[in-house]
Amino acid sequence: MTIEGKSALVTGAARGIGLAVAERLAADGAAVSLVDVTPEALDTAREALLSAGHRVTSFVADVSKREEVFAAVDHAERELGGFDIVINNAGVARISAITDITEEDVELMHDVNVKGVLWGIQAAAEKFRANGTKGKIISAASIAGHEGFPMFGAYCATKFAVRALTQAAAKELAPHGITVNAYCPGIVGTAMWDEADAQFAELTGAKTGETFESFVSTIPLGRAQTPEDVAQLVSYLAGPYSDYMTAQSLIMDGGMVCR
Ligand code: NAD
Repeated sequence: MTIEGKSALVTGAARGIGLAVAERLAADGAAVSLVDVTPEALDTAREALLSAGHRVTSFVADVSKREEVFAAVDHAERELGGFDIVINNAGVARISAITDITEEDVELMHDVNVKGVLWGIQAAAEKFRANGTKGKIISAASIAGHEGFPMFGAYCATKFAVRALTQAAAKELAPHGITVNAYCPGIVGTAMWDEADAQFAELTGAKTGETFESFVSTIPLGRAQTPEDVAQLVSYLAGPYSDYMTAQSLIMDGGMVCR
C-alpha cells in the first residue's frame, strides 16, 4: 500500500496498459479516476474495479481536447477528494512507410499522443500548484521514443515528443516539488498491437500474428511484455520510492533497446 490515501487519474484506462495501471494503483492503495474516450468499455472497467472493492470513478474525455482533460482533472479531484498523480497513458498507433503516411494519420497520432500528454501535464500542473501538492506526472512514451522503427516513423516521432515534453516540464515544475517522468514499454500484447499487426498484414501480406511474433522474437527475455509488467514500473514512478527521480523516460522492454 505504497500510495494509500492518494488520488490518481489514468487516461486510456478502459483497456490494455491503462486498465492494468489503474488496477495496480488501486491495489497500491490509491483512489483512481478512469478516463477514456469509449464510454461502454470505461463503464465495464469501472464496474470491475468497484466490485474488487476499490475506490474508483470514471469520466469520458477525449485527451486531444484541452478543455476535456481539464474537466477530467476537476472531476477526479471532486469525486476522489484530492488529486496527486496523473498517468497520461492514452495513445494511438498507425502503421505506414514513411513515404506513404497520410496527413490524417499524422494528425490523429499527434493530437492524441502529443497534445493529449501536453494537456495532461498542463491540467495536472495547474491543479498541483493551486493546491500546493507535490504531485507526480507520468506519461506513456515507448521504446519508439528512443529509437526509430520501420513502419512506425510518425508514431515514433510522437513518442520522442513525449520525452521532450517530459524533460522540459520536469525542469520547469521541479521548483514546485512536482516530478515528471515517462515509462517506455517494449512489445506489449494489447489491442493496440492486434490492430498494428492487422495493419502490417494488410500492407505487407504478412499472416495474422506474424509481425507481432517477429518483434517478440527479438526480445532478449524471450517473451512479450504484459500490461501488468508495465504497471509495475508505473507503480514505482507513482509511489514514494521514485521521489528523487524526475525528467526521465524509463525503458522496460525485456532488453530490446539499450540506452
Ligand atoms: P490500447 O489501444 O490497447 O488502449 C488505449 C486506450 O486509450 C483505449 O482504451 C482507447 O479507447 C484510449 N484512447 C485512445 N484515444 C483516446 C483519446 N483521444 N482520449 C482518451 N482515450 C483514448 O493501447 P495500449 O497498448 O494499452 O497502449 C497504452 C499506451 O502505451 C499508449 O500511449 C501506447 O502508445 C503506449 N505503448 C504501448 C505499447 C504496446 O506495445 N502496446 C508499447 C509502448 C508504448
